[in-house]
Amino acid sequence: MNRTVSGRPLRLGLVDGDGIGPEVVESARRVVDEALTAEGRPAPEWVPLPMGRRAIDEFGTTLPESTLDGLADTDGWILGPHDNAAYPPQHRIAPGGVIRRHFGLYANIRPARALPGIRAAAPDIDLVIVRENSEGFYADRNMAVGSGEFCPTPDIALSVGLVTRAACERIAHESFRLAAERRGRVTIVHKANVLPLTMGLFRDTCYAVAGEYPGVAVAEEHVDAAAAHLVRAPGDYDVLVTENLFGDILSDLAAQLAGSLGTAASLNCSRTRAMAQAVHGAAPDLAGRNRANPVALQLSAAMLLRWIATRQDRPYPAAAAAADRIDRAVAATFAAGIATADLGGQASTGEFTEQVTARVHRW
Ligand code: ATP
Repeated sequence: MNRTVSGRPLRLGLVDGDGIGPEVVESARRVVDEALTAEGRPAPEWVPLPMGRRAIDEFGTTLPESTLDGLADTDGWILGPHDNAAYPPQHRIAPGGVIRRHFGLYANIRPARALPGIRAAAPDIDLVIVRENSEGFYADRNMAVGSGEFCPTPDIALSVGLVTRAACERIAHESFRLAAERRGRVTIVHKANVLPLTMGLFRDTCYAVAGEYPGVAVAEEHVDAAAAHLVRAPGDYDVLVTENLFGDILSDLAAQLAGSLGTAASLNCSRTRAMAQAVHGAAPDLAGRNRANPVALQLSAAMLLRWIATRQDRPYPAAAAAADRIDRAVAATFAAGIATADLGGQASTGEFTEQVTARVHRW
């Protein structure tokens, strides 16, 4: 039976990460505090946990066991970006990928919507990419032992792609549930013309699941055609469901059409766990300069709150209204002509955060 937990503070993990991570994570923490307080709820109990460069220095690893244990004991968490390309060679495995795999976060939900006051190449874009997050062509997650990429000789490189019916089914359900709450359209994006077994299984399984959602219209597109269609007429799309690598690429394209990487939010989730994580990386060129755009992680934190509000095992309904406050406060701040430098504005990270937190209380 469902047990609501609105009476107690949420317990949320806070993982700074690298580069601009500490600045944007702190900004997201502040707006979540203010939004819950504005709803008459206690601010969350925050659990700071190390990952990335700081963790190498302190623990000799980018992702200490204590961080995974700490995250397991939360209602959800905010993850800053990591800059694994800059780690020493023995530490290059992306900690975000390890966390997704460890907690079975099989769905990566990436909305792209143009915001008022922001110049967007596609002002009418309002879609969500539902990206399968647990398998596909990612070398770090499609083998139980060893890597999904290997070289029989120094001049030959091979890559294994993993597609399972079970993973296709659960991501398809995720996309159809979401579409049923939106405009009721799912586009299955695949490449079954050249990968008929793997992508064919993905497409056919999505169609099989579609039968359980008679109110949702379903269409399919090859990923190359979808990329062109996205640029030509992004307003045609509602929900796109696709495999891991295609989803990663298409969501950067959609983010840019909607404005900038600095505003692109995302949630990694299963039915029982969720992690807010911006689409952008560590942006080392901006680290420590108070210039990063915190919106992507603020909106990701709002997605986390919305997920927490309706989670099946322990719903926390007040979190949905707090999430709405964050979305509206960000939109109102942009509408007032306030933005960070990446969007042509002059506000620092800190100033922008102050503007959003002030507006969180206005409804
Ligand atoms: P990754 O592979 O981890 O995604 P990347 O090097 O491909 O990282 P990012 O770190 O996301 O890409 O950023 C690329 C550039 O975009 C940055 O150098 C920065 O100039 C800009 N950028 C990214 N995120 C932001 C942000 N939140 N605010 C402002 N500019 C940003």
